[in-house]
Formats: sequence, structure tokens, C-alpha cells
Amino acid sequence: MGADPTVAGDLRTAELAARLAAVRARLATAVAAAGREPGEVELLVVTKFFPAADVIRLIGLGERSFGESREPEAGRKIAEVRTNPAVARLGAATSFDMIGSVQTKKVKTVARWSRAVHSVDREKLVVQLSSAAAAALDAGERSAPLRVYLQVSLDGDPARGGVGEAGLAALADTVESSESLELAGLMVIAPLRGSSQQNTSQYWMDQAQRIHHAFRENYPQAVGLSAGMSGDLDTAVAHGSTCVRVGTAILGQRPLLSR
Ligand SMILES: *Cc1c(COP(=O)(O)O)cnc(C)c1O
Repeated sequence: MGADPTVAGDLRTAELAARLAAVRARLATAVAAAGREPGEVELLVVTKFFPAADVIRLIGLGERSFGESREPEAGRKIAEVRTNPAVARLGAATSFDMIGSVQTKKVKTVARWSRAVHSVDREKLVVQLSSAAAAALDAGERSAPLRVYLQVSLDGDPARGGVGEAGLAALADTVESSESLELAGLMVIAPLRGSSQQNTSQYWMDQAQRIHHAFRENYPQAVGLSAGMSGDLDTAVAHGSTCVRVGTAILGQRPLLSR
């Protein structure tokens, strides 16, 4: 890869620029329609399964916040991005969030590179992230507490991950008791299927908003609601999302292997 991927002449860059512009416009429309302020909703660009070169192109196009879901792929990619001369020239402050499930043996490295983990759904993981983030802080590998989103299961399907609403308080209390963690809020993935009444993102995002609202009565600082992907970001914004995680609509279809 001799070419500078931040140069607009590159075909892939032009493709990413067009899709990114469409997503930004869609997001702006949804924010305005909901009577919310621009800047209330972060766009997290999900770059899993795509190479560091694409992340570098997106940085050139002005994006700074990215979502990754697999270790060690993510850690390697981030190191490549951060040492890229074009990125260094821009002096861009980038951040990477972990949005996928975290295996025990990957906790240490994830705690080094991630600004936030969006997929926290069990006590043991909170405890492990807490000590790994503390170690990373001590070692100077990170400079701020690790932000934690508790993933809520909307339909009780264990395959998708997430904890039921009743289990949130216990996890939140453990996060709150840790000095190396910070409670960011809740995360949801809208189920794909349901009964016909439930088979709409409207229905699931309504549930997510209700659960987040109730949660904030006891944890008012947990203002984040990570909700909405390529297919349902508009509905999520209408229901209070503060962070949409968008992959396909910007980067294109992921390789079949990933699904
Ligand atoms: C892959 C992924 C996304 C992005 O989904 P798209 O439909 O490609 O926008 C969002 N959230 C999570 C948790 C993911 O794993």
C-alpha cells in the first residue's frame, strides 16, 4: 500500500466518502426530526472485518470514533492506524470502542485499547475489566477510566448476549464501585425477529428507551444509550440513542465469514 489512503483520488476513499455523506445526512435528518441537537448523537463507525487502510481513509474523511468487535484483530489494526504517518500528520485523536463480546482471555488487551466496552453483561466480566483497566492505567497504557455500557437483552435470547432488565442494578453497582471503570449507560441490539407486533425496530427501541429511562432514575450519570445500527439508526435516534454503531451503510457488506 504505497498510496496515501487519505488522498481523495483513491477509489475506495471516494466510495467511503459517498456512503459516509449519506449516513451523516440520514443521522442529521433523524436528529432534527426528533427535535434533538446535532452533537447529541455520536456516530461510531464500525470497522470490524475491514482493514486498517479503511480506518485511515475514514480518519481522512473526518471520522474519529470507531467500533471494533474482535480481538486480536482490533488491537493489531489500531496499532497500525496509530503509527500511520498520514494519521500522525493529521494529529487526529482517535478512539476505539469494543462493541462485541469479550472473552476472558482477551480482557487484558481490550482494556488497553478501548475507550469504552459496549457489551458488558455479566458480573465476572465487570470484575475482570476493572482490574485490567486499573493495570492499564498504572502502566500508562490508558489515561482515563474505561467506560462501560451494560448490554440489555430485549428479548431474553442468550445467543445475542445481554442481561435482562432485572439484572442491571447489580452490574451497575459493581461498575460504580470500581475506580478504573465509569458507567456510561446501556447498550441494545434490536432483535431481528419477534411476533408480528414485536417485529419492528419501533417496538424494540421503545422498550430500550423505557428501560434506559427507568435505569437513569437510580443511575442519573448513565446518560448513554448505545442503540441503532445501519438498519435502524433513525428509529434509535427517535428513541433517545446517544450513540449509533454503523458498519454496513458506510463500509459495505462484510465478508460472509463474519455473519
Ligand atoms: C457489527 C455490529 C454493528 C454494525 O452493524 P451494521 O448493521 O453493519 O451497521 C453494530 N453493533 C454491533 C454490536 C455489531 O456487532
